[in-house]
Amino acid sequence: MKPRGVALLGATGSIGRAALNVIARHRDQFSLRAVVAHRRVDELAQIVASTGAPFVGLVEDAVEAPRDWARGAAALVDAVQRDDVDIVINAVVGAAGLDATLAALLAGKRVALANKESLVVGGHLVLEAARRGGGEIIPVDSEHSAILQCIGANPARSVRRLVLTASGGPFRTLSSEALQHVTAADALRHPTWAMGPKITVDSATLANKALEVIEAHYLFDIPYENIDVVVHPQSIVHSLVEFVDGSVIAQLGQPTMELPLLYALTAPERLVDTSMTGFDPIAASPLTFEAVRDADFPALQLGRRAGRRGGAAPAVFNAANEESVAQFLAGRMRFVDIARCVAEAVESLGDHAAATRDDLMAADQAARLLVAGTIKC
Ligand code: NAD
Ligand code: MG
Repeated sequence: MKPRGVALLGATGSIGRAALNVIARHRDQFSLRAVVAHRRVDELAQIVASTGAPFVGLVEDAVEAPRDWARGAAALVDAVQRDDVDIVINAVVGAAGLDATLAALLAGKRVALANKESLVVGGHLVLEAARRGGGEIIPVDSEHSAILQCIGANPARSVRRLVLTASGGPFRTLSSEALQHVTAADALRHPTWAMGPKITVDSATLANKALEVIEAHYLFDIPYENIDVVVHPQSIVHSLVEFVDGSVIAQLGQPTMELPLLYALTAPERLVDTSMTGFDPIAASPLTFEAVRDADFPALQLGRRAGRRGGAAPAVFNAANEESVAQFLAGRMRFVDIARCVAEAVESLGDHAAATRDDLMAADQAARLLVAGTIKC
């Protein structure tokens, strides 16, 4: 069979690199047709040299790049609309990934979605685009890939509850007093996953888990009250599904994103991949679970409330979080102020208009400005 054409958005990132590894191991099945990145021109040039992808896009206009590369944010949309692209891996970070997700689904493509922010910002629009265009969304996020694999062919009505696992991040055991003083360097030392800086900070605040609860709500059509979160520091159990008869099915594996990436390309089929080492339950032991410390990590409940509120609230939550994390990484905001700033933004902008993509982007912009303008919140 002819290899399936793949567009990789966010090729230079952590997920982008993992996706390149997976595709390189399965060249007979997948052919890289388009790569797009934000601004790392040299890294992108190396990727192009080693993969031969015929379409290359660089989003940042202010950086010099070869003349035959597509430029600007339109490059993301142009890449996914190509006739030779069947599967779009959206590994862009942040709300910047929304338009490409919408365009890919409208064009009837499979979207292997790492960019959870697409679903958080524009959940209804994303589902509507899939319905109208005939595209499908297969999650790359390890928890959602796990849930998809656990649900298998069971209908949504047979699911009682989803339980997302969270590593708890680097500050899981710190006292509330100690949390006042943690730095960006501390937050970037994740105990179990190697990821890009934004999601690593989100894992430390638990905002990532809030984004994932909203993501799960849209992906699996499960009400918020039936989506729970449990801390599982070993990151081996990637999530659990409880069925209406009380049976619980979990998916396990070492923490590597290459596995959910491969599954998003092949689902519901599986492909032989000998580079994935066998699972040793004894070496992985013990597997432990504990409750989230909601008072010390308020971003999770905050995001859950924004999800329930709906409208522009999740988009505002996401944008305020993106801006706060950027400020924190730049040393201009304290760790504990991230959730406070996000709460304030959702409080004042959560009822912003949200009917269209432009409404949501306006809410997104307003939230960023609010956080940037009042760094102390
Ligand atoms: P990263 O920071 O390592 O990489 C981000 C990529 O996005 C880069 O290639 C960058 O060029 C691109 N990018 C950034 N801004 C852009 C813009 N405005 N337009 C176009 N491209 C842009 O991030 P990551 O860790 O690879 O995460 C990517 C996405 O995958 C995020 O949504 C994250 O939540 C999700 N995710 C990541 C992991 C992980 O293990 N890293 C796990 C689950 C989900
Ligand atoms: Mg995840």
